[in-house]
Amino acid sequence: MIDIASPVKVRQIAVSDKLCKGCYLCIWACPWDVFEISKERNWRGVKKPVAVRIEQCRACRLCEWYCPDFALQVIVSEEEEKRIKEVEEKYEKPWFDRLKKRDKIISKGVWWLED
Ligand code: SF4
Ligand code: SF4
Repeated sequence: MIDIASPVKVRQIAVSDKLCKGCYLCIWACPWDVFEISKERNWRGVKKPVAVRIEQCRACRLCEWYCPDFALQVIVSEEEEKRIKEVEEKYEKPWFDRLKKRDKIISKGVWWLED
């Protein structure tokens, strides 16, 4: 029997909320059927790809190379995982919070046309 176990342990496949536009080229590119499309939309209205079968991942990084927006990262080391968490907390979350604040203001209506 052929042993198809990955030589590399993939810790996670991080997909940026800020950068992913939901084109699904990564899903198309993956030869190991790792991804599904999320059922939920994120705060940008995008249903991101989710690595639901990460145990099948071979760390070939085709998904990463095909992503036109550099939105996806295959994480194999603890160091990388820490770095990506730091980027999310330091940059993506504050950016998202600012957008949420802006959307709240906009959702109140076209205030400058009101009496
Ligand atoms: S290829 Fe990149 S932008 Fe397109 S769905 Fe995948 S992660 Fe998102
Ligand atoms: S690294 Fe390769 S096997 Fe893993 S999800 Fe990406 S394309 Fe699929």
